[in-house]
Amino acid sequence: MPKFYLTTAIDYSNGDPHLGHALEKVGADCIARYRRLRGDRVHFVMGMDEHSQSVLQAASKAGVPPQEWVDRMASRFTDFWSRLECSNDDWIRTTEPRHARSVTELLTRIQRLHPDDLYVSEYEGLYCTGCEEFKQESQIVNGHCIEHPTLDLIPTRERNHFFRLSGYGESILDLIVTGKLRVEPAIRRNEVVRLLEGGLQDISVSRLRQPWGIPFPGDTEQTVYVWFDALINYLSATGFPDAEYERLWPADLHVIGKGITRFHCVIWPAMLLAADLELPRQVWAHGYVQWEGTKMSKTAGTAVTLDEAIERHGPDALRYFLLREVGFEADGNFTWERFDERYIADLADGFGNLASRALAMLAKYRNGVVPAHSGATALDEVGQKALQEYSRAMDALDLRGGAEAAWTLVSAGNLFVQQTAPWALAKSGEDAELDKVLSALARALCRLAVMTSPFMPAKAQALWQNLGMEGDVAAAAWEVAESPPLPVRPTSRAAILFPKPASV
Ligand SMILES: [Zn+2]
Repeated sequence: MPKFYLTTAIDYSNGDPHLGHALEKVGADCIARYRRLRGDRVHFVMGMDEHSQSVLQAASKAGVPPQEWVDRMASRFTDFWSRLECSNDDWIRTTEPRHARSVTELLTRIQRLHPDDLYVSEYEGLYCTGCEEFKQESQIVNGHCIEHPTLDLIPTRERNHFFRLSGYGESILDLIVTGKLRVEPAIRRNEVVRLLEGGLQDISVSRLRQPWGIPFPGDTEQTVYVWFDALINYLSATGFPDAEYERLWPADLHVIGKGITRFHCVIWPAMLLAADLELPRQVWAHGYVQWEGTKMSKTAGTAVTLDEAIERHGPDALRYFLLREVGFEADGNFTWERFDERYIADLADGFGNLASRALAMLAKYRNGVVPAHSGATALDEVGQKALQEYSRAMDALDLRGGAEAAWTLVSAGNLFVQQTAPWALAKSGEDAELDKVLSALARALCRLAVMTSPFMPAKAQALWQNLGMEGDVAAAAWEVAESPPLPVRPTSRAAILFPKPASV
């Protein structure tokens, strides 16, 4: 059983999560669930970045101590992620002792193995509290950070510890170009390659007298720079430096947003090389959720809250819409109109309609018992093709392609019902033909329950149970989708999977 260690970016705990955060978490969760279906030993980690200055500012604005603030935010975030059915195996917070221990160990390791890689120097630059980093000229437009045009850059001058990032550019470029460190999609890889080809500057990795953070090893006046601290969470979640960390490390996939590729594809690999540790195998940088053409952010998050988006048609529908319509590769738009349209067309009239018609006919004509007819039909052919296309797309992290493949079977299923007209077969007493049609529909639903389970875990499970299948669809073997067995119990007509709201 191959291991698959998967992480998401850890979020700043300075405000409620919005749709942008949700896209990343449900995308990673969809991948985790798919890998489990394929038999991998998945370890899926999410968490919080709690040491940033913006957290300190948010806490002081709220008039509470920072620890109390981050505890409160952590429970807000976990509440949202459990409503969105995230199946993470671990939840790491950078204020935890296990994390501080790993950060100290990693830095001590670099000091011991490559002492020249860390040195003390004076730093002068413009700091963005939104990014929590010093910005270079190329990252500043009209005196503001490109990512945070509404925030003021803070002129800063202080003595810091520096990391010799400039010494690692060539090695990292080589690792990326040869595919040993896979950076995807290609557009992000090209950006990182250009950045590396331009040459790297050393970076400050400590801040002077920051009251909130991890002390820099061997220097009581300095605190570990929040990004250096945060990146190490991927390692601390494995138990590093305890020996068993190697059961999980290296990470098989870091899922992040496209705005932080420099940290994950340049700085993080350099830190690991300096500590003589293995590099992650792949970084996937998704695009942004756009709301009326602009990036979803804390400010835009008040225009459409995650709460409203979940309430609209339920968590499964939101997961599906984010991954199918907004997408997990480039930027994509979120609008209520498109959400409602997709909900009606794909879910209520598409998938839900197929399921309720098929289950209703099984109940009406065969008392809910799926006829033992194994004759392959045109619908089975479509199902096999859909499975192949689905797994090809999902293996390549093309989640939209995976959903599209599953929906070829939804469309074919509804068409199959129209063309075979089971009600007419029942009326004219063509029993063998009716058995063939009904069993083909049951197999199609079984395949769809498996394929949709990474996208819509609760709805897929409801369908699985209505089909009379045993246990949890998430625990089903992939082979079940390839050749669905007869259900162990009679099927049942249940509540409509995707009810049409009165207002839409
Ligand atoms: Zn910024």
